[in-house]
Amino acid sequence: MGRVYTLVNQKGGVGKTTTAINLGACLARMDQKVLLVDIDPQANATSSLGVEKHSVKGGTYATLLGESLSSAQVLHNPRLQLSILPSSPDLAGAEVELVNELGRESRLLHAIAPLVDRYDYILIDCPPSLGLLTVNGLMAARDGVLIPVQCEYLALEGLGELMRTVKRVQVALFPSLHVRGVILTMFDHRTHLANDVVAEVKKYFKDLVFETIIPRSIRLAEAPSYGLPITAYAPGSAAAKAYESLARELLLGDGKKIPQAVERGKKLRLRRT
Ligand code: ATP
Ligand code: MG
Repeated sequence: MGRVYTLVNQKGGVGKTTTAINLGACLARMDQKVLLVDIDPQANATSSLGVEKHSVKGGTYATLLGESLSSAQVLHNPRLQLSILPSSPDLAGAEVELVNELGRESRLLHAIAPLVDRYDYILIDCPPSLGLLTVNGLMAARDGVLIPVQCEYLALEGLGELMRTVKRVQVALFPSLHVRGVILTMFDHRTHLANDVVAEVKKYFKDLVFETIIPRSIRLAEAPSYGLPITAYAPGSAAAKAYESLARELLLGDGKKIPQAVERGKKLRLRRT
């Protein structure tokens, strides 16, 4: 059975989408079958893979509103070996449209249930809010929540509120909901502040913090405009290596083996440089 993780942080611009795309792409390169699920009406994950969000028919909007999920709604990028259940701007209306619906918090959970056996990893990209869409993301996070935290001023602000929301969902609806890990993003080694944030986050979340820290990199910001993850846009860059390392950490933590070809490639690269 596949693992389902939800990337969540109600703070905007902390690297949820960038991590979903690039972690997903790296896992795919490690022979994992990966599905991204975009539940953000901004549809940034959808656009970042080169899918025109206004042309999406169905996608997560229709899925949340009860249309049964057909494989036609899942788009596959053969070059990247990455699949996506795309979002579209009309998803913004879903929170209002679902408000009087029974079981509104677990629409996504039930919708993706038939897909869980078909993938090794399902990564759900949430919007920057703690509304109904994010609650659906939390309810579907069978194997835990991944929290990207930006190594910037006020990084910790809002994390208390996020943890209280996780707790509320856990107590009321989903007792085994838990944090799988915290991912430090946009680290700039030149600033003292970034180091302070790392120390603070580690003090708060302890060994839930992934060892891999994602550096600030202009290449990561550029890649989506080419519809590519960092591993295709700037392979060999520090940012690509960081996401590869994060994928490796996640796989090993999940008790999976790193495919031998990937390990061999790593050794070859190391020898050459
Ligand atoms: P939102 O809450 O709006 O969905 P988000 O948490 O998904 O935002 P991203 O969209 O991943 O955040 O990142 C915000 C911006 O920062 C984007 O322009 C992205 O390209 C850029 N970015 C993300 N990670 C990095 C990084 N490590 N280095 C430099 N730029 C980055
Ligand atoms: Mg996003």
